[in-house]
Amino acid sequence: MTVKTLEVNARSYRWMSRPVVVVCVDGCEPAYLDAAIAAGVAPTIARMRASGADLLADCVVPSFTNPNNLSIVTGAPPAVHGICGNYFFDRELGQEVMMNDPKYLRAGTVLAAFADAGAKLAVVTAKDKLRKLLGHRMKGICFSSEKADQATIEENGIEGVVELVGMPVPSVYSAELSEFVFAAGVKLMASRRPDLMYLSTTDYVQHKAAPGSPAANAFYAMMDGYLAQLDAMGATIVLTADHGMNDKHNADGSPQVIYLQDVLDGWYGKEVARVILPITDPYVVHHGALGSFATVYAPDEARVPGWIERIRGVPGMELVLSRKEAAERFELPPDRIGDIVVVSERHTVIGTSASRHDLSALEVPLRSHGGVSEQRVPLICNRPVTGIAANRRLRNFDALDIALNHAQ
Ligand SMILES: [Zn+2]
Repeated sequence: MTVKTLEVNARSYRWMSRPVVVVCVDGCEPAYLDAAIAAGVAPTIARMRASGADLLADCVVPSFTNPNNLSIVTGAPPAVHGICGNYFFDRELGQEVMMNDPKYLRAGTVLAAFADAGAKLAVVTAKDKLRKLLGHRMKGICFSSEKADQATIEENGIEGVVELVGMPVPSVYSAELSEFVFAAGVKLMASRRPDLMYLSTTDYVQHKAAPGSPAANAFYAMMDGYLAQLDAMGATIVLTADHGMNDKHNADGSPQVIYLQDVLDGWYGKEVARVILPITDPYVVHHGALGSFATVYAPDEARVPGWIERIRGVPGMELVLSRKEAAERFELPPDRIGDIVVVSERHTVIGTSASRHDLSALEVPLRSHGGVSEQRVPLICNRPVTGIAANRRLRNFDALDIALNHAQ
């Protein structure tokens, strides 16, 4: 008997012999798991790492939510699927446009391919902004915690989600928004047993609470309980993250920010350069739109090399690359990044102009992501993983490959 395989985005995936659950824990710096295990509150995760697979992987840079979630479900980097942030500057339109619409997707997902081939699919995300991208052209169940009460058969492949899960719809800024994802995953596995399920949380807790803090450990203890139930139901579980998370503040608790638009305005004149922060999204309360990645558009190519040299001299910068260098190094679509890509160091973020960031909503010292410093993420499985070359650089978007080709 031959094992059925599917080809998606130039990779092949074996058909599942048992249900597969891929979990993307938003902002899960590896230290969160270490700390929760050390505190004794994550016995299931401890067991997965001890008797399954305990790996680390590199996420996509910019280490943001959407580019990485789309990489995980397509098994490919942004150069292939096209989503490299929440915003880019459309030169033809002359304006910043949001990349949340599925029309910007350039590749199909592995999830949709399995659904088309007859597998039962379920996708649950915390925030609704990701749902349409993840569920693009996918038959099956796909809904968000945020809008769980609005799910319909026609739009989401399911109705009565709130009754099924037995939890009220949580606030969009809460740990419960992620808990709802796990609780829904467990109920769906128990009632419908999907062949392939993708669960994606939100990093509300990780933006506020460092590894080992009471709030962080409580989050991972919660998660552990649901993972135990999925494990007990016989699923293969692969857990990874979209990106890590680091402190981005000064000793006094104020954010450590390079206001790059202000810097460039001072050097070259007001708005000659245009700084775009692709982390910007409608939910900025917990990070003030501040991350460690920015892209800069110049009015003409000739200025670019000189600008790169000068920006490299700004304290707190880690990498300043031309469009071509950045597209190659980070596997990004060149037409959706600026002339210059700027990455700041571990504890520094990049802003536009000080006047354009409302930091009054930051209740605790800033923690954020976006840079190379948040690239390391966990990649763990509840079953042993075989056939991985020792020298292979693992990526978070190998999660489906690990689950389908190496863990069964
Ligand atoms: Zn994220």
